Amino acid sequence: MADKPRILVVGSINMDLVVRSPHMPAPGETVLGEGFVTSPGGKGANQAVAAARLGARCRFLGRIGRDTFGQALLAGLRAEGIDCTDVIPTDTAATGVAMIIVDARGENSIVVASGANHRLTPDDVFARAEAFEQADAVVLQLELPLPTVRAAIEVARRYACKVILDPAPAPQRLPEALCHVDVISPNVTEAEMLTGSKTGEERADKNIAMDLIARGASAAVLKLGSRGSMVVTNDGKMARVPAFDVTIVDTTAAGDAFTAALAVEVAKGTDLRAAARVANAAGALACTRLGAQTAMPTWTEVRMLMEDQPGRD
Ligand code: ADP
Repeated sequence: MADKPRILVVGSINMDLVVRSPHMPAPGETVLGEGFVTSPGGKGANQAVAAARLGARCRFLGRIGRDTFGQALLAGLRAEGIDCTDVIPTDTAATGVAMIIVDARGENSIVVASGANHRLTPDDVFARAEAFEQADAVVLQLELPLPTVRAAIEVARRYACKVILDPAPAPQRLPEALCHVDVISPNVTEAEMLTGSKTGEERADKNIAMDLIARGASAAVLKLGSRGSMVVTNDGKMARVPAFDVTIVDTTAAGDAFTAALAVEVAKGTDLRAAARVANAAGALACTRLGAQTAMPTWTEVRMLMEDQPGRD
């Protein structure tokens, strides 16, 4: 491994368009809202930003449209020091957007137009095998076409880079080829969707993890919100890793911070239980700030939180 862990994120990149509204508009209704903001998002891009802030040499493979949102997102990734050689401009689709309406009670309604993200093809991935060759770990989510994610797993295997899959958003049936990864890391909702079983009790959580392992994953790391995380490996070993105690401001993208930190640690060769502790710290820190990419912590912040709460092992 090079001095810095090398992470390749193959994933989605969106502009989030957020407007506050006194209430959700009914069909046909026009509501006068306020406070429009744009903020960079997409699970792939969020995770790339987190990995870069945590000290990884990070490269991003994805697609944007030839439009102003695409240019703004690209500039944002570059400003984080992310290698954007493999961000492909797309003539036939707009940059992905998420239209988010937040009402007075804080509830939100979201429409995602995947746009260019859904134009990332298996051939795009195969043509960029060199990016995989240069990576210690590859991070994947499911906001891309599933055949493209499958291609990424295939190329990663060819170069023996570790694969971390965040199965979000979770489909009802995850093709088995997508389970053949080093680590699958769902949150509670995704774990329940993928397996049809309820989380909550330690035994139930472990069974869910074992189910995902039976489908081909070498390990499952469950993201359990305020309960921290659970690591289960294919030798049947299980470890619960407690959450850090922080003041919660906004839990958006906690899971993305967690996945990125997990991948950075796996790329360094850290054992999974210790990696999950670092990931818990990153996830907790993301909860202490508003927003998605803006909330991603640095390595120094993660280290300080772990030093402040050392008993949580
Ligand atoms: P997602 O954001 O995908 O819904 P989670 O809510 O499980 O995923 O959050 C990801 C991780 O962030 C958790 O596994 C945990 O480590 C951390 N985290 C989330 N919520 C809290 C919380 N309330 N207190 C401490 N840590 C948290």
